[in-house]
Amino acid sequence: MTMQASPSEPSTPDLASRPLSSDDVATAHARQLRAGWYRQHARTIVTTAAIALAVIVIWQVWRISEANALATVRRIGDERLTLYASTVDGALDRYRYLPFVLAMNPAVQTLVRDGGGNDRVNVYLETVNARAGAAALFVMDIHGQTLASSNWSEPLSFVGQNYAFRPYFRSATAGEAGEFFAIGVTTGRPGYFMSAPIHGPTGILGVAVVKVDLDRLQADWSEGGETVLVSDENGVVFLSSRPNWKYHSLGPLSADTLAQIRARRQYNHTRLQPLDYAAPHRGVPDAIRIDGDEFIERSHPLSQPGWRLHYLSPMAPVREQVLGAVGIATVSTFLLVVFALYLRERRARQRSRDQAREAMALRALSTRLQAEVDERRRTEHELRSTQDELIQAGKLAALGQMSAAIAHELNQPIAAIRTFTASGERLLELDRREDLAQNLRSVSQLTERMALITGQLKTFARKSEGRNRPVALREPLDAALALLDGQIRAAGVTLTVEEPAPGLTVNGDPVRIEQVLVNLLRNGLDAMKDAPERHLSVRIARDAEDAVLRIRDNGHGIAAGAMTQLFDPFFTTKEVGEGVGLGLSISYGIVADLGGTVRAHNNTPDTGATFVVRLPLIDTPPEPTP
Ligand code: ADP
Repeated sequence: MTMQASPSEPSTPDLASRPLSSDDVATAHARQLRAGWYRQHARTIVTTAAIALAVIVIWQVWRISEANALATVRRIGDERLTLYASTVDGALDRYRYLPFVLAMNPAVQTLVRDGGGNDRVNVYLETVNARAGAAALFVMDIHGQTLASSNWSEPLSFVGQNYAFRPYFRSATAGEAGEFFAIGVTTGRPGYFMSAPIHGPTGILGVAVVKVDLDRLQADWSEGGETVLVSDENGVVFLSSRPNWKYHSLGPLSADTLAQIRARRQYNHTRLQPLDYAAPHRGVPDAIRIDGDEFIERSHPLSQPGWRLHYLSPMAPVREQVLGAVGIATVSTFLLVVFALYLRERRARQRSRDQAREAMALRALSTRLQAEVDERRRTEHELRSTQDELIQAGKLAALGQMSAAIAHELNQPIAAIRTFTASGERLLELDRREDLAQNLRSVSQLTERMALITGQLKTFARKSEGRNRPVALREPLDAALALLDGQIRAAGVTLTVEEPAPGLTVNGDPVRIEQVLVNLLRNGLDAMKDAPERHLSVRIARDAEDAVLRIRDNGHGIAAGAMTQLFDPFFTTKEVGEGVGLGLSISYGIVADLGGTVRAHNNTPDTGATFVVRLPLIDTPPEPTP
């Protein structure tokens, strides 16, 4: 039964088995195009990606190394700032008490109160300063006139000078401690002035001042090779490790500010020009440029109002460090790229070598295969010609055998006829008519026998003219048994016929099936010739789609070496004159024509052989025999 899918069955969306649409084809085509494009441009893509990667790596190295270098520079700058701020403060703090001490000295007070000789105070101040180490100590009256000074004996003595215009003087006369940085109008040397009021019974009578020299600090900074500046509240640089930047402003000064500074004569007659100062780096907020040199600037307010300490680290080492790192990164990347290219090249060379080797191996293999094919062809050709020769030889041998058999069969009656004819002539001379008649009868019998032999040959050679039709197997079997009935009886054979399922029908020509059965039954009878008891059994049974007919005898069985040649034409083990070896060969051909098989085996453990004919069954009942 054939299985059919019912039309109502839901169709499953099986993508794998659905037919390809034009969209699929277009997508596949596009994919192919894309793959081709990628293959073609692989080198460009890889190179571009490598360059991009290298640029990114170098840029990152640049960024990171710059950030690191800047961080280090800033840290060092901040540490220095803290240190120098404390040294500036320390340098000034050392003297801060001194104006008060001077102001409280009775001799000083007497001098500012009563005037008169200042010798004592001059000596006192000189002595104190010899210990204190300030630039100068001096005492002014309430009008700003210097009455006594530690440098009274030097050419540029302050004694007699008036410093009423100085802010530190004004602060002190107002009752407060004053502090002020300025270039000395007398000496032309810069210094930090710290003042204190000198109190008398009637109020402030004068001012005591300490001038501190800060040049020492600058010298230390310069010796350390560092760039350090101190600017005042107006942005004027008044201390600097670089002398040429001193008394320049960090930015332009307004006219008012300038006028104010001039009035205080703070920086004497210096021009206070602005430095060539700029912030060049957009990415680095604390980068500056002064006079064309780039620095990282860290600054810190000092305890003096408006004062700022600046620590400038040169940018060049940062640049060098960054450039060094970038250089190393570039060289490394370049080496890496060269190495990668070398590896790629080596791999490509290796691949092409492998390919060449494979191609060579393939070529060798193909040559060998070709040689083998040629060899096979030659062998086949030789075999075929040998086979042809063998067939030819076999045919000739068979023909010889057959001729011998036929000659033998016919020779006997011919010889007998010749004898009868010769004796017939003699009998005629003697006029023995009776004997002659007997003689002629014998001749006639002999010719009949000869006709029988040739007739038999003809029977085997003849082709049935009948057409195939449904045949109940029992029908040709009965016909064959009837034909052999005489022989069966004469030989005293016990015959058994079994047909468990009667009416088994095959398609075929009944005459030819009968020929097959006659041949097999006759062979059985021949084989049992010398058996003490002869049993021949025939059984027709069904096996699946086939009708199976077995003919079994208890004769001598099939000779050992004969099994493989049984069905060959002209193969016989019988005496000359008894068989020509055509029966089984013809039977085999007939059964094969009907789509069946015929096989033989010896009976075990009994003696004899069994021939099994297998023919395909048909359902149609047989036509009634006319
Ligand atoms: P022929 O009978 O002329 O020899 P066949 O082709 O019919 O030719 O048989 C070939 C040979 O097969 C016989 O010579 C015989 O050796 C062997 N043979 C056939 N049938 C039997 C049988 N029933 N028992 C033993 N041998 C057999």
